[in-house]
This record gives sequence, structure tokens and C-alpha cells, in this order.
Amino acid sequence: MTQTTQTPKLTDFSTFNLHSALENALSKNGFETPTPVQQRTIPPSLEKQNLLVSAKTGSGKTLAFLLPTLHNLLINPNYYAGTRALVLVPTRELAQQIFLQCQKLLEGTSLKAGLITGGEDFKKQENLLRKSTAIVIATPGRVLELLTLDNQPFENLETLILDEADRMLDMGFSDDVLTIAKHCNENRQTLLFSATLTHAGVLKMADKVLKKYELIALNTLRDELPHIEQQIVLADDNSHKQKILAWLLQHETFEKALVFSNSRAQADALCDPIRATGVRAIVLHGDMDQKERQRVMKLYRDGVVNVLIATDLAARGLDIKGIQLVINFEVPRNGINYIHRIGRTGRSDETGLTITLVKHTEWNLMAGIERFLRQSFIRRNIKELAGKFQGPKKLKASGKTVGGKKKAETKKEKPEKVKVRHRDKKNIGKRRAPSAKTTAAD
Ligand code: ADP
Ligand code: MG
Repeated sequence: MTQTTQTPKLTDFSTFNLHSALENALSKNGFETPTPVQQRTIPPSLEKQNLLVSAKTGSGKTLAFLLPTLHNLLINPNYYAGTRALVLVPTRELAQQIFLQCQKLLEGTSLKAGLITGGEDFKKQENLLRKSTAIVIATPGRVLELLTLDNQPFENLETLILDEADRMLDMGFSDDVLTIAKHCNENRQTLLFSATLTHAGVLKMADKVLKKYELIALNTLRDELPHIEQQIVLADDNSHKQKILAWLLQHETFEKALVFSNSRAQADALCDPIRATGVRAIVLHGDMDQKERQRVMKLYRDGVVNVLIATDLAARGLDIKGIQLVINFEVPRNGINYIHRIGRTGRSDETGLTITLVKHTEWNLMAGIERFLRQSFIRRNIKELAGKFQGPKKLKASGKTVGGKKKAETKKEKPEKVKVRHRDKKNIGKRRAPSAKTTAAD
């Protein structure tokens, strides 16, 4: 594994000399300047190098892999090769989103993109693989099912892309991804994208699937998120939280808001009370069938409803314009989930506000996340809804003030969710060394 440090000075997409169809699509869609991850990733990717890329959510990773991959397909037409590029992603919604972006980029060309996800017609997808669909965007489960049909749709594959690899690992797709990778042409290029390198498993997967690769690390989880203001509001219990939530939805200004809960049942339970306050809210979680999920996403995307109540399923990858407010009804289970949730706001360089509601049993979890991220959340008091809980009793003032409020020192607090805090804590300050098995690329 090698790690590049220099950032080439590429200020315009035209410096990449991309296929004219791509250049046209970029200018038609108003993309002029490549983002840092695009600047760093596109040149080596055009050279067919294997890459492990970590860059924060919203940094433009999709174009970073679509542009070089599509360019290489376009400059070397081969209509008989079957599927030449495969993009694996964790959720159907994300697959759909990338598929649409792909179609936009391929406008006016004869290259075909295809979508393979669960919940859609199996036969149609089988045919799609037979019909020389040059680039396929898919979730791992369904691809695996199609592979059992005893054909080798990926024997000519030129590029395999694993997007949101950390999330795929979280969702238990690790084995599926490895199996699919084994069915792909051995001489392919592989690109692995992740929001973080600190996730246990990402480097391991890179070793197995990429073997020799170059590491491009732009951001890690501990990077500050200056364009997203992060607040916490203390609450006594869930019914107090509901009042705070209703108040926030009524008093904050936003185009769209996203409310996260840790469980499906809680997400469902929040919907009616929020609606009763006159807010246009809807629920999204994994219990829903595919049709229902699509309907919900469309209503939210189109702005028919402007508050989406979701479980972590919606936390990754989705890129919806205008989400200016993210509320964590419950403290997320770990720092990684926290980052992914808040990454739904402040897309590109917009500003965003995130508010986490914290009751006393969640204080330590919240403090653990603060330490993991090496940042302090701004404590906000809502006068109208002041509660009894004001932080742990043995709280010592650290002397520092955050947003005008004293920041709590939490060192002596007993952890309640030891497992989660340990998982978060053990990565602090550590840079994961590449495994001994990793072969140097040069
Ligand atoms: P990531 O996958 O890193 O989370 P996305 O690829 O979803 O990020 O991109 C986030 C947003 O930034 C999208 O709305 C995308 O259209 C926009 N974007 C990507 N690249 C550029 C660019 N070069 N210039 C302007 N906007 C961009
Ligand atoms: Mg992405």
C-alpha cells in the first residue's frame, strides 16, 4: 500500500481530458471545479490503479468514481463484453441515486447503465446482465442471488467499485461482497470508498479485495465539520423529548428536516404526535417494502412532506438537497453513526444544524461521542421547555465555555454502554497500520 500526499493543482474538470460526453454532461449540470477527492482520485483511477479512498460524506465521492470509470468504458467501446463495471452499494436508495447520476452522465452515448436491487423484478435483472449492460449499480444481496444462476456475468469486469464500504460492513454484507469479488475478473481494477478508515474491517476488506492499492485519505472521522453546527438539548424523558422535538420543528427555519431514532418502533411512535402539531412528517425504515420506501423518498425529495423520521437506514449515502436540520431524537449508538447522521445536512458547502436530544441515561454515550470526535457540542437551553436534568450531578466545570455554556468534564462518569464507548475509544489517536499481508504497490 502506498499513500499519496501531494494534491495536484487541477482547478477545472477539463484538465482530466475526459470523454466529451462526460465533459458535456458536467457543464450541463453545472459542475466546474472538481472537489478535493475528485482531484486526487480521478487521475490514478483513469490509470486503472486500485484505490482505497476515504473522504467525508458529501465530499463528492460519486463523481470521483463514476467519471474515470465511465471515461474508460467510453474510450474503449466493447459491446460484447457484458458487464464491464459494477458498483456495489449498501442500500437500494443509494443504488437508485447513483444510477440516476450515471444516466445523466451517459446521456447521448450508447452505453447502458443498469440497476440491480432487491425488491425489484428478478427476471428483468437477470436479463439486464445478459444484455451487455456496461455498468451495473447494485446492492450485494440480489447480485449474489443472480450469481447462483450458474453464469459468470462478471468474467470480463474491468472495474469493481465498493461505495460506502464501511456501511456495507455494518450491514453485514462483508461475506457477500467478498463472494461477489471472487466472481469478478481477477485482472480488474478495484476502487473502495469509505467515509472512514477507522472502521474496523475497512482495511481488512481492502487487503482481501484490492490486494495492492494506493491509499488516498482526505478526511477522517475526527475532522471538524465547521459548516455544521452541532448542539445538544438535555431532556428528562421521552415525553419531554417529544415536546422539545415539536417545539424545534415549529421554531427552527428549514427547508427539510430529518429526525433520527434508534429503533423502528420509536420512529413509528413519533410520527402521529408530530403530525398532530401540523407538521408534514413521514416515516422511513427497513420494515417497509421497496415500493413504500420509494414512495416515501419521493414525497420527501419533492418536498410534499418536509420532515422525515428515520432509522439509521437513511443515515448513509442519501443526498437530498435542502436538509438543513437533523435532530437525533436519541443519541446514536456510536460516533460513526453520529457522523453519518449529521452528514445528511450541510451537503457540499451548505450550512446545517444538528440537535441531539440527550436524557440522563444517554449522557455518557454522548460524552463518548464528543471525545471520539474530539469536539464539544454546543449546549442549548430552551427556556419554554426547561427540564430538571442539567447534566450529571458530579459534573465538574472544565473552565472552558462552549457557546456561552460550561462544558462538562465527564471523565469520572461511569460508562453505561461500555461496548459502544470502547469501540469508539479504541480508535482515538490511532492510525491503523496496514496489515502485514498488504503488498506495497510500488
Ligand atoms: P459523497 O458520496 O462523498 O457523500 P456525493 O457524491 O453524494 O458525496 O456528492 C455530494 C454533493 O456534492 C452532491 O449533491 C453532488 O452533486 C455535489 N457535487 C459533487 N461533485 C461536485 C463538484 N465538483 N462541484 C459541485 N458540486 C459537486
Ligand atoms: Mg456517497
